[in-house]
Amino acid sequence: MKDLLQKLEKDALAEIAGAESTAALQEIRVSFLGKKGAITDIMKGMRDLTPEERPVIGALVNRVKDTLEKAFSQQLTELQQAAVAARLASENIDVTLAGRQSFRGSLHPVTLVSREIVEIFGRLGFAVEEGPEIEQDFYNFEALNIPRDHPARDMQDTFYISDDVVLRTHTSPVQIRSMLKQQPPLRVIAPGTVYRRDSDLTHSPMFHQIEGFLVDKNVTFGDLKGILTHFLNNYFGQGLDVRFRPSFSPFTEPSAEVDIACVICNGKGCRVCSGTGWLEILGCGMIDPEVFKSVDYDAEQVSGFAFGMGLERIAMLKYGVSDLRLFFENDLRFLRQF
Ligand SMILES: [Zn+2]
Repeated sequence: MKDLLQKLEKDALAEIAGAESTAALQEIRVSFLGKKGAITDIMKGMRDLTPEERPVIGALVNRVKDTLEKAFSQQLTELQQAAVAARLASENIDVTLAGRQSFRGSLHPVTLVSREIVEIFGRLGFAVEEGPEIEQDFYNFEALNIPRDHPARDMQDTFYISDDVVLRTHTSPVQIRSMLKQQPPLRVIAPGTVYRRDSDLTHSPMFHQIEGFLVDKNVTFGDLKGILTHFLNNYFGQGLDVRFRPSFSPFTEPSAEVDIACVICNGKGCRVCSGTGWLEILGCGMIDPEVFKSVDYDAEQVSGFAFGMGLERIAMLKYGVSDLRLFFENDLRFLRQF
């Protein structure tokens, strides 16, 4: 038994010294010192020993166990130190390397255009209002004098969520919400996201509008022309030619479309303005008395005007962008230019 123990000690020490990882070391430890390990096996033979031999072998077993435990913990420390050293070597940072350039973010062109327009109208006393993008039929259509059988309600234009709930097709419902909330005088500018079932080179199912309106006593079409001309001159350049053309809208009467002299060719005629020298820029008109009825304003006492324009279209003209889809693709090569 003494020989067995000495052989075991020698084998174990050799295996410990050869262990290359803490996991391997742990396995070796279990195979020798564990409950079902080699030493336990040998100790089963103790019951066959004479009373004189037992204490001698017992002392030997304890000494071997002691030696092996010490060898294990020493090898474990060495393996751990080697692991730390290897990690330090692999994670070495070269502080002399050149840094990576980080780019500054910029505002999206549609946000830029929206903010500039809000600022111009802000100087004229217009306050910003917002409304929900998921809108009730009443605010999006009914209160704006767009009855059930109006073509603007056709399924091909509107995303219906249910019979009475839609994704708003314009920012005009903000007019109704603002007028129901406050009494005149009222000056509101309302930028926002709108949705229509339309998608091609110049249409996107999601786009942005900005809506403005003013209600007070004795507001005339002359006020409308004055304020919009002021805005267009401030935004696109002083002295710019502006013209108003009669048009139709269910929620304004009379209604007009506003053109500016083409900013690309200065009115000479080019591909962008289809050779006409003019660019259609916004729609406007005097608020229809029917709309005042739905918000309980007295059309005999107050009058007002409203206007709306597409922000992507303004951004395309302002920055000379030819494809609407560029605004929604989030290509950094495009966005970094602003
Ligand atoms: Zn032109």
